[in-house]
Amino acid sequence: MKCVIIGSGVAGMTAALDLVKVEGVEVDLYTDEVHPYYYRPQVTNFLAGVMPLERVFLHPLSWYEERGVRMHLDSPVARLEPDQKRIILEDGTAVAYDKLLLTTGSCPFVPPIEGVQKAGVFTIRTLADALAIKDFAANCTQGLVVGGGLLGLEAARALKGMGLEVTIVEFMPRLMPVQLDTEGAAILQGFVEAQGYHVFLGAAAKAVLGEGKVEGVTLSTGETVPAQIMIVAAGVRPNSRLAQEAGLSVDRGVLVDERMQTSAPDIYAAGDVARFEGICWAIVPTAQAQARIAVANILGQDARYENLAPVTALKVVGIEVNSMGVINPPDASCEAFQYTTADASVYRKIVLRYEGHSSVIAGAITINDKLLAKKLGALIEQRAPMTPAEAQGLVEGK
Ligand SMILES: Cc1cc2nc3c(=O)[nH]c(=O)nc-3n(C[C@H](O)[C@H](O)[C@H](O)COP(=O)(O)OP(=O)(O)OC[C@H]3O[C@@H](n4cnc5c(N)ncnc54)[C@H](O)[C@@H]3O)c2cc1C
Repeated sequence: MKCVIIGSGVAGMTAALDLVKVEGVEVDLYTDEVHPYYYRPQVTNFLAGVMPLERVFLHPLSWYEERGVRMHLDSPVARLEPDQKRIILEDGTAVAYDKLLLTTGSCPFVPPIEGVQKAGVFTIRTLADALAIKDFAANCTQGLVVGGGLLGLEAARALKGMGLEVTIVEFMPRLMPVQLDTEGAAILQGFVEAQGYHVFLGAAAKAVLGEGKVEGVTLSTGETVPAQIMIVAAGVRPNSRLAQEAGLSVDRGVLVDERMQTSAPDIYAAGDVARFEGICWAIVPTAQAQARIAVANILGQDARYENLAPVTALKVVGIEVNSMGVINPPDASCEAFQYTTADASVYRKIVLRYEGHSSVIAGAITINDKLLAKKLGALIEQRAPMTPAEAQGLVEGK
């Protein structure tokens, strides 16, 4: 069986390495990236100077080839031809497949900002992006990051690591708005500001100032922030163009069923590009889990994907933030238990969901309590029961 995978992110590599273990399966992986596989979350660690370039790569290219994965770097795919069961590369080469897996990931979303095309404005997704930012930032003293989410904070840490004075601009009224509630975000903001970052909340970047290159940024709130470099980290959009143009069902992401099967026969999708039950998660654990389900079904097994509770961790601004599953009770079926230490250095929150006569953890936030985060993560995964008294005890650290 000839399997073709498009994309060399965590979903594509997970699938490729699993597939080549099976006798009779040939795997060709096409990617537009010029570098061998690297773990994408390490991109900001490299940029911040805490990880040398050579350690960003897990293995040399030959390691994958030796295991049977035929890697095709710098080989962008131009289109899919599902009726002929082949893909067409940008150089015109046609590649036939028995099974095709789309793991084209996502790309940064850039909101409409006047002057955003000026030199010195970057997004951060690939190692190539990080190398370009590193080069440019070497001649800058002030940086501005659009987006106070996980990636924005990591980008801010990276610029600070390079010695720049850094401003973070977040459209929502709190940092990490997807992963944190108001209390948790306020604690995080305190830590961030104490380290010298400037934070503007409820503000948007309106215009990039400067003759051809960034000299400053005007905000929707009226302030002008001086900066010679701007990084936009305002969310991602699935790379679903190939699927859309080939007539597959797409609604922002490529629509997949619980087997990660798309609307076209023998074509599967997994990771950031896939949309399952209305959600494109865009996090690593989901990409890995979906890739494994796709592989099982490609191999003829009947594996089904269930949405995982999203788990995210931030540990880059001198504070350990963990967020899992539901963080705010959506209705009366859920109840929150929370506790902040007197010095506001530790915050714990557990959201319970009542199911008949029992209750389970639906989600949690921990700030600076790694041990509890680990314990709660496992309990959420096991859908373990927990009583309100137990939840109260845990958040109080008993
Ligand atoms: C800097 C950074 C830090 C992050 N940190 C975290 C974190 O701490 N925790 C977490 O859970 N998630 C994190 N994420 C998100 C996480 O990296 C993604 O969810 C994950 O990489 C998705 O994997 P994927 O394989 O689906 O897609 P991707 O990693 O995006 O890989 C897609 C691949 O497809 C290639 N491709 C796209 N189109 C084509 C084409 N036409 N032809 C050929 N190749 C193509 C791309 O170049 C890319 O190599 C982070 C993301 C970034 C950018």
